[in-house]
Amino acid sequence: MADTYGREINYLRISVTDRCNLRCRYCMPEEGIDLKNNNGILSFEEIYRLVKIGAELGIRKVRLTGGEPLVRKNLTKLIKDINKLPQIDDIAITTNGVLFADLAEELKHSGLNRVNFSVDTLAADKFKYITRRNAFDKVKDALKKAIELKMDPVKINTVVIKGFNDNEIKDFVTLAYEYPFHVRFIEFMPIGDLLFWQKDKMMTNNEIKDNIKQDFDIAPAKQVRGNGPAQYYDIEGGKGTIGFISPMSNHFCSLCNRLRMTAEGKLRGCLYDKRETDLKSALRTGVSDEDLKQLFLRAINLKPEKHQLNSGWGSENNRKMYQIGG
Ligand code: SAM
Ligand code: SF4
Repeated sequence: MADTYGREINYLRISVTDRCNLRCRYCMPEEGIDLKNNNGILSFEEIYRLVKIGAELGIRKVRLTGGEPLVRKNLTKLIKDINKLPQIDDIAITTNGVLFADLAEELKHSGLNRVNFSVDTLAADKFKYITRRNAFDKVKDALKKAIELKMDPVKINTVVIKGFNDNEIKDFVTLAYEYPFHVRFIEFMPIGDLLFWQKDKMMTNNEIKDNIKQDFDIAPAKQVRGNGPAQYYDIEGGKGTIGFISPMSNHFCSLCNRLRMTAEGKLRGCLYDKRETDLKSALRTGVSDEDLKQLFLRAINLKPEKHQLNSGWGSENNRKMYQIGG
């Protein structure tokens, strides 16, 4: 399934809920979100039907995200069902980790072998500041549990924010040195709760890399499973790797293989492009699988060649990261 620019689209990221148990300052307002009633978001049966159709069209990888995917009850059932689709060879989640440790065995049992955690600080007081919640111990438990269960790969996504966690870069690299984590540094993007975003809080990945090279010997890594937009580096003598995701300084749009589905069932070709294809309304008027396939193809055709984040798309975006599923 190729788009207008010849990119093979085989990756579907699904936001299973807008809700979250944290309130990261750059992502959600303190009061939380306008909660959709259960009719407003797709049921698991609807998501499954859409993944099945996507799989018939060429989707091979699925990532469940949110909001916080683990606040949605019985997520393991959806994982199990998706895992049974013969075309899907990779299923993953992106989570803040707060509920992970308690659900980990069940998740592993349902067929989940890999997980991405979002962790922006390794200091409990700073965690409380940035997420507005006191849950750092739970996140530490999650990281330990994922290693204990030998999940592989276990990735940690860290948004680097100048003046907040740029002085922890070395600590994150040390974590990847001591444990088999793949720590990925992500450039801070002007999307989400824009009151918190400022251009001078953004640190480019080249700046981060220079900072790391003062203390560690790093070299471009061989492939890490789950090939995405990150550039990976080995740390000499270390168990894990580090990676860099540079949506701001070096966009990777020419390699983009993904479609995104919001919790309300809207398909998007790009995180930053507000054009959407409404699958939920179609589903609920009883359309055929063939019609749904056509809607998938429409969304793929709308996929832009590249994002225009550096020239204003972030502020024009009509959705937040927790709605699209970052
Ligand atoms: N709640 C889950 C979590 O935090 O992992 C999944 C959803 S969250 C929206 C997905 C990712 O988007 C997180 O890694 C978060 O740090 C990232 N994110 C949100 N706003 C961002 C921004 N303005 N710049 C860069 N990354 C952002
Ligand atoms: Fe929740 Fe993830 Fe947004 Fe933080 S980044 S508020 S954990 S959805």
